[in-house]
Amino acid sequence: MNSHYTKLVKNLEYLKLNQMALHLDETVDFMMKNQLSFTETLIKLTDYEIDIKEINMMKSMVKVAAFPHLKEVKDFDFDFQPSVNKQQILDFTTLRFIELQENIVFLGPSGVGKTHLATAIGIAAAKKRTSTYFIKCNDLILNLKKANVENRLETRLKHYAKYKLLIIDELGYLPIDAEDAKLFFQLIDMRYEKKSTILTTNVSFKLWGEVFQDTKIANAILDRILHHATVVSIAGDSYRLKNHLVKENKESNGQ
Ligand code: ADP
Ligand code: MG
Repeated sequence: MNSHYTKLVKNLEYLKLNQMALHLDETVDFMMKNQLSFTETLIKLTDYEIDIKEINMMKSMVKVAAFPHLKEVKDFDFDFQPSVNKQQILDFTTLRFIELQENIVFLGPSGVGKTHLATAIGIAAAKKRTSTYFIKCNDLILNLKKANVENRLETRLKHYAKYKLLIIDELGYLPIDAEDAKLFFQLIDMRYEKKSTILTTNVSFKLWGEVFQDTKIANAILDRILHHATVVSIAGDSYRLKNHLVKENKESNGQ
């Protein structure tokens, strides 16, 4: 090895350009073989560094988003849930709905894949470095409530309002009292026509008045969420009970 080569490796390591140092040999070989120009060679070498940076950035975006698991669209069995339109879900993963500041509501009973699909779309967004955050509705309300008590509601609202995609999971599993409903409304209002929200719920819209224990607030929330939204209604069996259902069918068929 000549001393220039050694010095270059040292420089790259000093600059923490480890990928460039790692791929230096093969890039020099490739350059000789294909008679690349200086610029072409540098592009090839710096691309190694950029690739790793992008992968790390993607990983940290996914981490920051706080998903409950890393299930993606490819892990979803569309044959099991025929009421879900695969093309529509794939279209969501292009993130066109985020560019249009539109919302998505997944509506359906427990176990049909609402959280799975919401997460899958969220992962697609985080991978493209769209600021994304996943939170259960109940935790969101508790956090807003706490912030309100501690006189920092505005800051907390702004925090949740800034995500380009906010996923609010499980609206309706627990009742929300009218005071808390107002906090929730403020967030939805701040995001309205500015940012995209994905909501999952097991409660049909006409019963939201009961969830929020205030029909007026419930309507104001619904208005803003549904104004620019795609509602994905999932009517089907719970995937969690899949194996039990198969067993039951077999039993009832005398198998
Ligand atoms: P929901 O939020 O509607 O209650 P989940 O999305 O949590 O339901 O789904 C329950 C479990 O079943 C999860 O582990 C999820 O990954 C899985 N699941 C649901 N539907 C499907 C499906 N069609 N294909 C593969 N896994 C599924
Ligand atoms: Mg769920």
